[in-house]
Amino acid sequence: MSASKYDYIQTLIPDGRIFYNVSMKEYTTFRVGGEAECLILIQKEEELEKLVPYLKQIEQEYFILGNGSNLLIGDKGYQGIILKMDGPMEQITVDGTRITAKAGAMLSRVAVTARENGLTGLEFAAGIPGSIGGGVVMNAGAYGGEMKQVVESVRVMDGEGQITTLDNDTMEFGYRTSIIRNRPFIVLEIVLRLAEGNREQIGARMEELSQLRRSRQPLEYASAGSTFKRPEGYFAGKLIMDAGLRGFRIGGAQVSDKHCGFIVNTGKATAADIREVIEEVQERVKERFHVSLEPEIVFLGEF
Ligand SMILES: Cc1cc2nc3c(=O)[nH]c(=O)nc-3n(C[C@H](O)[C@H](O)[C@H](O)COP(=O)(O)OP(=O)(O)OC[C@H]3O[C@@H](n4cnc5c(N)ncnc54)[C@H](O)[C@@H]3O)c2cc1C
Repeated sequence: MSASKYDYIQTLIPDGRIFYNVSMKEYTTFRVGGEAECLILIQKEEELEKLVPYLKQIEQEYFILGNGSNLLIGDKGYQGIILKMDGPMEQITVDGTRITAKAGAMLSRVAVTARENGLTGLEFAAGIPGSIGGGVVMNAGAYGGEMKQVVESVRVMDGEGQITTLDNDTMEFGYRTSIIRNRPFIVLEIVLRLAEGNREQIGARMEELSQLRRSRQPLEYASAGSTFKRPEGYFAGKLIMDAGLRGFRIGGAQVSDKHCGFIVNTGKATAADIREVIEEVQERVKERFHVSLEPEIVFLGEF
């Protein structure tokens, strides 16, 4: 680790928010992953405005972490700096039918805020265990809803530290993707445009969807949700089941018995176990049905 690099970073970020050799197990819903060289908690945009150009100048690799709920980090960890939104970067404010949320706010909290304010449109997101920043990057969606339908604009920082606002069209939202998956933007703040609704009905719909999740998804195990994107014309879970892979296991990683679209950590899985299951599933589904399963989850670090 270069001491001088961190000497300078320490002048930009207050004490107590820079951590070294951090086990990423605690930061991903898969509960696997080795150590990151460094993790920095970001509380102000101004911190990033100075940090990001510096990291670019020294050609330092970095990664923006949301809630780690769509992420598989290798067992050998990540030789780079993880930036995670914290504290004030999790704020949510409401103005009429608009909700403004900082990127670190949990989607579930934003959905509850919408309900409390009688705003409809975000019910689908209540059970998605990610941050709204990650939700926008992935165009997270469920039960017929997706972020694309409710995002008015997104405030982002580019790789040089310049801040701009992207409107819905410029975000290039697609199925589980957005412009930010291909460009070095950091999501800072999101403005959602919702509609006036009935608080009880909004609450009832959220409860209904949450029951559906509990009954269909293996929420008792660590996972990153659906491992694969839905291939056009098929359902990943059904293809995997029909390939005879229900319960297929390597080490501690397993194709869920309850929902074959989920690969779960049964307790002691390594990231390598999970990756092997992913690869085996892809191979067997391809062999059997000539369909390529593309992972929805993001891979980071060395395996
Ligand atoms: C039990 C379970 C159920 C799930 N159900 C669903 C579902 O129904 N629908 C669905 O779409 N997903 C679902 N997911 C997957 C996941 O919750 C979503 O994709 C979520 O939007 C990811 O958000 P995150 O904050 O955890 O992002 P992370 O996993 O931390 O990151 C995902 C990607 O976003 C990037 N990113 C995160 N924050 C920022 C930022 N501020 N700026 C720039 N880039 C950023 C990361 O660099 C990474 O590339 C589920 C996951 C689990 C574990």
